[in-house]
Amino acid sequence: ETGRLRLPPWLKREIPIGQNYSRIKEQLRGLNLHTVCEEARCPNIGECWGGGEHGTATATIMLLGDTCTRGCRFCSVKTSKAPPLPDPNEPKNTAAAIASWNLDYIVLTSVDRDDIPDGGAQHFAETVKEIKRRNDSILVECLVPDFAGNLKGVETIATSGLDVYAHNIETVERLTPHVRDHRAKYRQSLATLKAAKSFKPGLVTKSSIMLGLGESDEEVITAMKDLRDAQVDAVTLGQYMQPTKRHLKVVEYVTPEKFKHWEEEGKRLGFAYTASGPLVRSSYKAGEFFLGNIIK
Ligand code: SF4
Ligand code: SF4
Repeated sequence: ETGRLRLPPWLKREIPIGQNYSRIKEQLRGLNLHTVCEEARCPNIGECWGGGEHGTATATIMLLGDTCTRGCRFCSVKTSKAPPLPDPNEPKNTAAAIASWNLDYIVLTSVDRDDIPDGGAQHFAETVKEIKRRNDSILVECLVPDFAGNLKGVETIATSGLDVYAHNIETVERLTPHVRDHRAKYRQSLATLKAAKSFKPGLVTKSSIMLGLGESDEEVITAMKDLRDAQVDAVTLGQYMQPTKRHLKVVEYVTPEKFKHWEEEGKRLGFAYTASGPLVRSSYKAGEFFLGNIIK
């Protein structure tokens, strides 16, 4: 265990558990639904599912199975060249479950399915439509793959009736080939975000960057500017955490003060919304932010 950094005090925390949390957990069982919140053992789960201080509950559901066709070096999701085919009932089942959870904001995400012709875009779009059909006041964010740069997939999702289109660049340009699967490309990711906005002007777009992988301050600023140039409205910055010993090592634990600095930079660069902190994740309490800020 040489060369591993010690966990700084600001990353040690207890996980608060609320009433809503237990209810969601019970209902997930048996429905064959996966949440990122659980799979990634996200430290924010109590807050997100429980509704936080402002009573705005958020959860992140994983569509299209639990096995990815890609293998990013920061991610602990299982990989395979040919995962099982998606469950055709998933859009309906997911929507039914969500409708019973009393959530204000739902994030739909997925593994990358380079084995499916449309990358799963239609499956996402159907799920959004089913959710909105049951409850049109719930806000839906889709955190989607890059569809290997196929803009048809981007269009299918951007025009599905969702509220927020999210795709994560994950890291700065220089580190992209080192951190993400070789099929993921920094410029390609930016192009999909820009395209989403052009397919549906007014759509809120969002991206996320992990810090602590060896990026320089200049590189972070450049990445944030690149996102603004792609008309991205919201950005989140959080600490990269090594999920297992086989994954990329943490190069640096960025201090809370430094995260605060990036939040100021985000404002200065003109993002409508910036969330930046050690424990901030792409979907961290997204509902609170979006209900209070961007979407009225
Ligand atoms: Fe993980 Fe997404 Fe990369 Fe797949 S594409 S390995 S789910 S980060
Ligand atoms: Fe789930 Fe995201 Fe909240 Fe973590 S931050 S609990 S993954 S919604």
